[in-house]
Amino acid sequence: MSPAGPLAWSLESTDGAARLGRLATAHGEVETPVFMPVGTAGTVKAMTADAVRSTGARLILGNTYHLMLRPGAERVARLGGLHRMADWPGPILTDSGGFQVMSLAPLRKLDADGVTFRSHVDGSEHRLTPEISTAIQHQLDATITMAFDECTPFPATEEQTRDSMAMSMRWAARCRAAFAPRPGYGQFGIVQGGVFQDLRDRSVDALAAIGFEGYAVGGLAVGEGQPTMYAVLEATVPRLPTDRPRYLMGVGTPDDILGSVARGIDMFDCVIPTRAGRTARAYTRRGVFNLRNARFADDDRPLDPGCACPLCTRHTRAYLHHLFRCTEMLGPMLLTWHNIQYYQDFMRGIREAIRAGRLAQHAAAQRATWQEGDDSP
Ligand SMILES: [Zn+2]
Repeated sequence: MSPAGPLAWSLESTDGAARLGRLATAHGEVETPVFMPVGTAGTVKAMTADAVRSTGARLILGNTYHLMLRPGAERVARLGGLHRMADWPGPILTDSGGFQVMSLAPLRKLDADGVTFRSHVDGSEHRLTPEISTAIQHQLDATITMAFDECTPFPATEEQTRDSMAMSMRWAARCRAAFAPRPGYGQFGIVQGGVFQDLRDRSVDALAAIGFEGYAVGGLAVGEGQPTMYAVLEATVPRLPTDRPRYLMGVGTPDDILGSVARGIDMFDCVIPTRAGRTARAYTRRGVFNLRNARFADDDRPLDPGCACPLCTRHTRAYLHHLFRCTEMLGPMLLTWHNIQYYQDFMRGIREAIRAGRLAQHAAAQRATWQEGDDSP
């Protein structure tokens, strides 16, 4: 049921720091912990919307940077918003565009008010500020709007990180002021502060004082390594408001997700399953395989016998190997479908384990099976 107030998250059960919950939005409910497939430019690459839904995915991500350049936010709004344009009536989270401007756009110029940049597509000049990013996400009809911030580069000195975080917190207040509340919609603030815990703490306090429907942890998975990422989560997550969802941006591998759920994270997004699907890397119950490898040329078994996707129920590893060797489009299509199915099955397994109070045993069993691999010659 769609909430009368803002988007709301409710806790169902806990297992240690891990949380099982439910997100009620204007576009339907989502069970957490959840993994969001990345639908960069209004499409999860190589997948129809029906195929994405069939995997059990309920929440997808769209990229403001790509959509503002093509087809343009005003055009998306005229076409009925991203939900209608992309045939995705379910909830959609959009990023703020800031991270991709810094990683993709040439000739970008950051100032205290925002960032001016040239499009990587046609060189045209554009500008993003907290107000513009929030307005664009409204035009896209994002169910969840992200605050516009600067993802502090890694590595950075403590002084650089402090200045960057302080600017992001000033921008967070401006984003909140620019956000138009609607029933079942919400806006998330983003914790920055790099690997400096006192800065992370100050960032959490600043965001909680503003008040958002959810809180993201940003600036991780940028090269600091898993032990440092976990250390930051262990110190930061317990300080976040307990009645709001927590989103770890851009993470990650199945192993990163297991470790982060155990540290209290509820939401994830990453390009890994879709990008890997286009480059012949398969995520399975037995670990990661490269389907270009010659050992699969005569392997007539299903990729992952535990998986119900079309690739695993109808085709062999040998066929998928052949498709990638011939650069046939069907290879990336089938393997993207499988990888997204695997990630959704994996998240379902995590939710069932939290409900049963056995996440630690479940995580140990998952890691053991990945290590084992399969018995391919
Ligand atoms: Zn499969």
